[in-house]
Amino acid sequence: MITRKKLIAQSQAFETAPLEDILTWAWETLGSRVAFGTAFGASGMVLLDAMQKVAPQIPVFTIDTDFLFPETLHLIERVEARYEIAIERVHSRLTVEEQAHDYGPELYKRDADRCCWLRKVEPLQRKLSELNGWINSRRRDQGHTRSQIPILEYYETDGRALLKLNPMAPWTRKQVWDYILEYDVPYNPLMDQGYATIGCWPCTKAVDADTDERAGRWAGTDKTECGIHTFLQPIDAAPNAEAVSS
Ligand code: SF4
Repeated sequence: MITRKKLIAQSQAFETAPLEDILTWAWETLGSRVAFGTAFGASGMVLLDAMQKVAPQIPVFTIDTDFLFPETLHLIERVEARYEIAIERVHSRLTVEEQAHDYGPELYKRDADRCCWLRKVEPLQRKLSELNGWINSRRRDQGHTRSQIPILEYYETDGRALLKLNPMAPWTRKQVWDYILEYDVPYNPLMDQGYATIGCWPCTKAVDADTDERAGRWAGTDKTECGIHTFLQPIDAAPNAEAVSS
């Protein structure tokens, strides 16, 4: 276990490090207990491409809510073929039909938080119980809720520390697209139709190019995050923080 003090120093050192260095460090430090969770947005595709160059052993998973766009499902298959990897699909415990039976149809229209919990957060919780490290591709310039994220951070889960890695945190939208075009990285074709970030089809809309990147998610409501990045407690605030990391 890396102490919090060392983690903060390492996180700051990574601010100017190449993406590849962070990914190599993740594999050398955590081995098979680290995994990359992605919804195959633009940042995720850059991270995945870099990962295949330096640490292709890192497992990749996605939360398949059963409400993904056909274009996203096709992209996942293209990614598997191009990089010769198998991507784990993590599903809700409930099928869409079972959810409609238990909670009524179109729950996303009436209680999006509950729908996100059932189809995203709980499945992720289950997956994270297998891991010590969770790599994701959030960036600080994606909106105010993400503007302060460090590259490395500890979260508390089930009374233990989970290392959350945000290697794309300092990247800008322009840098991401420069990389995608330079290395011919596959991306979701919906992005050419104005979809800046892409989640479930009932809750994602196209946005203007100069709008907040996540404005197309749950448009017209106060909701800005599905919950997968907010349900865990940062370790500094965890009541038993000292027990899980000192
Ligand atoms: S984004 Fe929409 S459809 Fe997807 S899990 Fe959340 S509420 Fe349900």
